[in-house]
Amino acid sequence: MKSNLILLRYGELALKGKNKSEFEDRLVQNIRQKLSGFPGVAVSKAHGRIFVELNDQEMDPIIRELSEVFGLVGFSPAIRIRSELGEIQKAALELVEQSSGIRTFKVISKRADKKFPIGSQELNHRVGGYILSRCPKVKVDVHHPDLSVHVEVRGTYSYVYGNDIPGPGGLPVGSSGRVMLLLSGGIDSPVAGYMALKRGVELQAIHFHSYPFTSERAKQKVIDLAQILTRFGGRIRLYVVPFTEIQTEINKHCYESYSITVMRRMMFRISEELAKRNQALALVTGESLGQVASQTLESMNAINEVVRIPVLRPLIGMDKHEIMTVAKKIGTYETSILPYEDCCTVFLPKAPKTKPDREVAAKQEARLELERLIQEAVEGTEVIDLEPGQKEDEFSYF
Ligand code: ATP
Ligand code: MG
Repeated sequence: MKSNLILLRYGELALKGKNKSEFEDRLVQNIRQKLSGFPGVAVSKAHGRIFVELNDQEMDPIIRELSEVFGLVGFSPAIRIRSELGEIQKAALELVEQSSGIRTFKVISKRADKKFPIGSQELNHRVGGYILSRCPKVKVDVHHPDLSVHVEVRGTYSYVYGNDIPGPGGLPVGSSGRVMLLLSGGIDSPVAGYMALKRGVELQAIHFHSYPFTSERAKQKVIDLAQILTRFGGRIRLYVVPFTEIQTEINKHCYESYSITVMRRMMFRISEELAKRNQALALVTGESLGQVASQTLESMNAINEVVRIPVLRPLIGMDKHEIMTVAKKIGTYETSILPYEDCCTVFLPKAPKTKPDREVAAKQEARLELERLIQEAVEGTEVIDLEPGQKEDEFSYF
């Protein structure tokens, strides 16, 4: 008898009532979507838990997939048996034998069905005794056991399960509304997207592309990054905004020291417009504080004032090292460090203003045909839909 299911725990203690059932339904839906490539695997919900029935599929690849589903707090390999003492004992022994390298254990029983004739204390003893008599290598340690053998008696069936494997936490993607991630090819913005996904948003991404100043490969790099994020976010729509004319115009008409400020004001305006058209409620950026000239508070003020939509900056409390650690963990780092130019670096001024003045910025951009430039960029935007598990030649462009 092998572990035939995975027991999933989910969290956010504060959830109640209608929110709770929406949270659960969304989570189950996301799990089903994530495991759709495993035929026969069944996902069900019972007693405030979610169960994944393996039906002969291997456990490890499925746990790997589940570790990318936000809202899951932990997993335990579990065995379901009929609620009979002998069956429970055998399953518990099986669990101990399968857990390599353990020396101590403890049985924790819970009798949810009071019709079962044995109380939980006695069940602890009977199951523990059974294991001790058949498995001489292990001892009981009630304080710090290597393995906790959980026994849960529920109606017709009981569950035996082991230690908790931590999940990613957070909220199920899709439970918090839609946001637009400003996705460059750098290290930070994919991490910002991941952090936003963790709080349950549905993600769409916007990339500003300045072909031919930036190459097709730079664009492909961003597509690849968005594709990696689909592992956590499910389907992601990517908007590629043509930014060449705007950058050229800024370069021609504005003070060099203000080019970054004006450029980012344009990015925000266009992003707000795309958010409005696509029912997104916030922008998300990979900005942090004090990393570069465009990320001082003065600069954020000068940039942020041109939009009304909230701008979320999930990396604000992290330093570069922490951001890189997350980037490596989620698998975006290797792609992010590929050396293709981003549109921001192409026209990089020698001395960007670290404390740009809002009025000067406004005066500078008054030299541009703002409305027309924004309109044309929005109208010329290319839409790329990315599905989880997709390969490069399967992208749908339209
Ligand atoms: P990243 O590592 O994400 O590129 P960064 O540290 O290089 O960020 P900036 O160049 O100041 O910082 O960009 C700040 C943020 O602006 C980015 O994190 C991203 O959200 C957004 N951004 C910058 N360039 C682009 C672009 N070409 N397309 C879309 N968003 C962009
Ligand atoms: Mg960058």
